[in-house]
Formats: sequence, structure tokens, C-alpha cells
Amino acid sequence: MNILGCGSALPTIRRNPTSQLVYVQERQLLLDCGEGTQLQLRKYKFKFHKINHIFISHLHGDHYLGLMGLLASFSLLGRKSTINIYAPKPLNEILKIHFKKGYNDLDFKINFIELNTKKEELILDDGVIEVRSFPVVHRIDCCGFSIKEKIKQGNLKKSAIDKYNISIEQIVNIKKGANFLYKGKVIPNSEIIKSPPKPRKYSYCADTKYSESIIPYIENSDLLYHESTFLEKMSDRAKTTYHSTALDAARIASKSKVKKLLLGHYSARYKNLIEFEAEAKQIFSNVVAVKDGDIFTIDLRY
Ligand SMILES: [Zn+2]
Ligand SMILES: [Zn+2]
Repeated sequence: MNILGCGSALPTIRRNPTSQLVYVQERQLLLDCGEGTQLQLRKYKFKFHKINHIFISHLHGDHYLGLMGLLASFSLLGRKSTINIYAPKPLNEILKIHFKKGYNDLDFKINFIELNTKKEELILDDGVIEVRSFPVVHRIDCCGFSIKEKIKQGNLKKSAIDKYNISIEQIVNIKKGANFLYKGKVIPNSEIIKSPPKPRKYSYCADTKYSESIIPYIENSDLLYHESTFLEKMSDRAKTTYHSTALDAARIASKSKVKKLLLGHYSARYKNLIEFEAEAKQIFSNVVAVKDGDIFTIDLRY
């Protein structure tokens, strides 16, 4: 996962508005698309044509104003394949007006998937990964997203293939859970198959105030990105603007039993991110205050 932007409403030369590129199982998913996202994609040398799914959390400009430019560039670069955009309903109208009034016809189709901002929904299931949207608590309708791998079949142990001389047809059955019959003796499935890695889960909470209502959706994530626009000294401002502090994010991470917490979406007033990490560490130790360009990976676990 690559952080393209971790700033909030006011872009600064240190931080771009929010956007992340998540790559999982050969797929590239763009989470939010603040102003300047396409330049960040260029800077970090990502291929535009590999992005087929764009998820927009809400319609504050720092999360979607880069989308029109990115779509126009897709067209200029010869894109023909459909792009899937998951966003709150009004964005569909905004996009239509934007491209109609500018007489800018795109050479590809947009498949617009309207987000339900009131309850959790499975919005993408392609057999390999699942993406769910869920409501967070912000000034306007806003969703978080969780991305999870589906359970994979285990592979056969090489030693078992060699030892028992197993045919391809038998391998298919064993992978489905069948035992293996060898010289009249039943070899249990667990003896010949490796257990597959545990499915990995990444959760992304864009703009939200502190709310325990999101815990069921993000529980047990390997990695959680939770906004921390402010430090605790400005907790009153966080509440009135429907944002969180670093301490809020740490509380949610702890209660959700996630393995690692990423902080971002900092107010432009903050220069030193060490304070964000220090504040969160009072409650949750495995935390990183992200910077633009940072890359995070989730190791496979068995
Ligand atoms: Zn924002
Ligand atoms: Zn917002």
C-alpha cells in the first residue's frame, strides 16, 4: 500500500490531499483521489491503466477533486476499459455535468456504484478479494472501506507429491479437502496439504470523529489507517469538525484489536509528525504517522 497523500483540506508543499494506492493480488485499488493524485501516481511511477477500481469516501474536495483530472488523463492515454467508481450518489451527477459542460467525452465507460452511507455493504467480490464499505461519522455522509483477501486453498506439500506420486486429477480433489488413498491406506488431507496463509485485511477510515460504531467493521485488521487530523490539545476542535485526534485513533485501534495503526490526514497547521506517534503510543504501541510516499506491506501469516 502506497500513501500518495496524507494531508487534509488545505494542501501544503509537504503533504498532498488524501489518496492511497492499495495493491493486492495483482489488483490496484485507488482509495480517495484528492487534488494532485495523478501527479503523485506519476512521481511514484505507477501505471495508470492498471487502476480499475476507485473508491471515494465522501465529497469533501480533499478526497475527490483529483478525480476529474485523472479520468481525463486516462482518456488521453488511450484507456478503453471500464473504470469502476464507488462513491456517494451525488458524485455521479457532478462527473456527468463536469464532462458534459466541458465537451470532454471520455473514451471509456464509467461503472458508477453508489455507496450506502448508512450501513455496511459488500461492494466488490471478484472471487479473490472482497471490499466492504461502512459508515463512519463525519459532517457529511462518509464511508470507510475494508479490503480483505478471500480464503485460499492450500497447496500440496512437495514432499507428499514426490512420496505418493499423486496425479493432477487427484491433486484437484485433495485441494477440495479429500483424503488420499495410497496402497489401500487412507492418508489424511492434513498430512499432504499445507495450510494456506491467513487472509489479510486492511481497513481505511477516512474522515471521522471518534466513534466506536466503526469497531465491528474494522476488527482484527492487520493494518488500520485512521485519520488523526488533530492532536489531543485540540480535541474540542476535532469534535466540532467531526475529526479525530491521534489519541482517538489509538483508542479505536486498541478496541478493534488491529495489529498495526497508521495515522494520517493531518491538519496543515502541524509540521512535526513525531508528536502524533508519541501521543498515540500512550495507548497503542504499533503505530506509524505516515508521510507521502510511504509504503506499507502486510506479511503473510500461516
Ligand atoms: Zn478530509
Ligand atoms: Zn471530510
